[in-house]
Amino acid sequence: MKMNKFYVVGTPIGNLEDITYRAVRILGEVDLILCEDTRVTRNLLERYQIKTPTMSYHAQSKISKAEKIIELINEGKNLALVSDAGTPTISDPGSLLVSQIKQSCPEVEIIVIPGPSAIISALSISGISVAEFTFLGFLPHKKGRETLFKEIAVSERLMCFYESPHRIIKTLESLIKFAPDKKVIIARELTKIYEQVVSGSPEEILSYFNSNPDKIRGEFVVMVSNR
Ligand code: SAM
Repeated sequence: MKMNKFYVVGTPIGNLEDITYRAVRILGEVDLILCEDTRVTRNLLERYQIKTPTMSYHAQSKISKAEKIIELINEGKNLALVSDAGTPTISDPGSLLVSQIKQSCPEVEIIVIPGPSAIISALSISGISVAEFTFLGFLPHKKGRETLFKEIAVSERLMCFYESPHRIIKTLESLIKFAPDKKVIIARELTKIYEQVVSGSPEEILSYFNSNPDKIRGEFVVMVSNR
């Protein structure tokens, strides 16, 4: 009996050339691509002339959407899951769906097609030895936020998280308050035209962004280490 397949496919975090041959082939071969945002994935598919139909699957998708997906799998369809950028399920939707498929369709092969992830890309050019690190995803906006900064302050490990341009200043202010002696490395807009890595004390980095407001844009990975 032929087993059908569910692929979790890594896609670029900016530069559309950062995709594997295998990812391009699989995205072209499956029956349907589940996208966090079909309009975003459309750019990638057009770049590689991939004509596979798409369907949205995102953080707000209802249970009925997962049921529909499971129905398609039961009909024998091969599906691929992608997010807007990077590796699905890493601070992105998909893990619940993967677990529902594992439960409802244990015979389906769930296959990873590895690709970029912002956290790993940032670490690789941080210049810090990363034998061990802690990845916090996005920090909570309210509840638990202060506790986390206190943990960052006392941690011996490299602490990493994702941040948006709207919150980066607030986050640097919190680092000044709770962890002023740490070293902060910010990797911004990786693989894009304005890719940048800046490092210094929380105070130095805040002053840099305050003097260069045009740089408070795009996507940020924040890494906090001991000096
Ligand atoms: N699944 C993605 C991954 O594997 O990296 C992460 C998705 S998460 C919703 C988006 C966050 O990842 C952004 O807010 C930013 O913090 C980080 N990010 C994504 N692309 C980036 C890039 N090109 N440069 C720096 N950070 C990036």
